Amino acid sequence: MNEFDFIATYLAPLAGAGGLNLKDDAALLKPSAGKDLVLTKDTMVEGVHFPPGHFGGDTADKLLRVNLSDLAAKGAHPIGYMLSIVWPKGIDGTYFKGFAAGLRDVQDAYNFELLGGDTTSSEGPMVVTATFIGEVPKGEMVLRSGAKVADDIWVTGTIGDAYLGLQSALGRALEPQPSAEALWHFEEAYYRPEPRLLFRKTLRKHASGAADISDGLVADAAHIAKASGVCFILEADKIPFSSAAGAWLSKQRDEDEAFKTLVTAGDDYELIFTASAGFRQEINRAAKTIGLRVSRVGTVGQGEGVRISSDGKVMTFQNTGYTHF
Ligand code: ADP
Ligand code: MG
Repeated sequence: MNEFDFIATYLAPLAGAGGLNLKDDAALLKPSAGKDLVLTKDTMVEGVHFPPGHFGGDTADKLLRVNLSDLAAKGAHPIGYMLSIVWPKGIDGTYFKGFAAGLRDVQDAYNFELLGGDTTSSEGPMVVTATFIGEVPKGEMVLRSGAKVADDIWVTGTIGDAYLGLQSALGRALEPQPSAEALWHFEEAYYRPEPRLLFRKTLRKHASGAADISDGLVADAAHIAKASGVCFILEADKIPFSSAAGAWLSKQRDEDEAFKTLVTAGDDYELIFTASAGFRQEINRAAKTIGLRVSRVGTVGQGEGVRISSDGKVMTFQNTGYTHF
């Protein structure tokens, strides 16, 4: 199967009117009145963002989810995406079908279309990139730069499950061995993070600043703090862990080090956001309606950077999160 057959057989069914069914050189997008476009792009490299040889649906699925998470953090909803795929040379064509099925699953779940892209191959690892286009009502995108001193700091969902899922996906034993159910929970968090799109209206209405947690809780807190010119003061005992991650954590010999690993590991794809203390009730109520756990983890202060206090002491970090260079 060549590149053209791949596009016609597997990708064209994922496109619609905007993508001209992938039968033209370019896509045509008609912006909606009263909306701003929100653009975001994420790349995944075999061996860096997903385990070697995982060319199928899991990788396609995750690529879309991590991009949707960026849109969710900005209060946007997805319209469509452009997809670039560099297949490893000589790839087994049965992976094409699985990859397309992964795309289909996420498109159906969140309702957006494939607009176009590019397909190539190389001797190197698989590289896949998606550029997403989302929309927000004019002027309502939630920025990293809006956090204000005395705002509450909130986190959705739980932190660290994806890190534990990655260890399991890489075949590294976790000590002590979690239950089968806990392992399933961790791997789901790693492979299928839930983009918090249902929370977008609440974010637009009440959040002063927001980011999604891709590089790690501490690193992404630092991104908002820096953009807003403030300090993030977090309380260690308020950081939300699932019962499975909490159980693992409590059995570690050096619980402080293990805690640091979970809050700097990344891949959570939860949201961290700030909001005036006057919105506590609204935020809790809105989260409850969509079954989303939200936790108040600290307060914005004057200064810079991120401070995590634990038992009255400030924790220090060697690394605050994942960096590529
Ligand atoms: P070109 O020759 O201009 O590079 P192609 O023949 O590669 O164009 O692409 C033809 C059509 O297929 C275009 O609409 C393009 O956007 C679409 N396409 C190619 N690769 C992909 C992909 N990986 N995902 C989505 N659409 C793709
Ligand atoms: Mg062309």
